Amino acid sequence: MNLNWKINGRSVSSDQVGDAILSSMESEIQAAAEQKVIDTLSAIRCPVHDQSAQNIRFEGSILNGNEAKMDCCCDLLKEAIQQALN
Ligand SMILES: [Zn+2]
Repeated sequence: MNLNWKINGRSVSSDQVGDAILSSMESEIQAAAEQKVIDTLSAIRCPVHDQSAQNIRFEGSILNGNEAKMDCCCDLLKEAIQQALN
């Protein structure tokens, strides 16, 4: 029997369904984890410039221990963010 499944808009044959569900769960977990970090970082403001981190992004998977990259107005904001993450 050959079943076709649609997962996240992609057709997946039955022998690949397990992998597809796993990777779709992983990307959901990753998206949730990234959103949490972005929310946390966005709430932190520089004591001098009253700005939050801009352009927060992740290179690779946050689940593999990759850290967020972002643009900060100055080192004070970077320090405040480091303290919030530790
Ligand atoms: Zn600043």
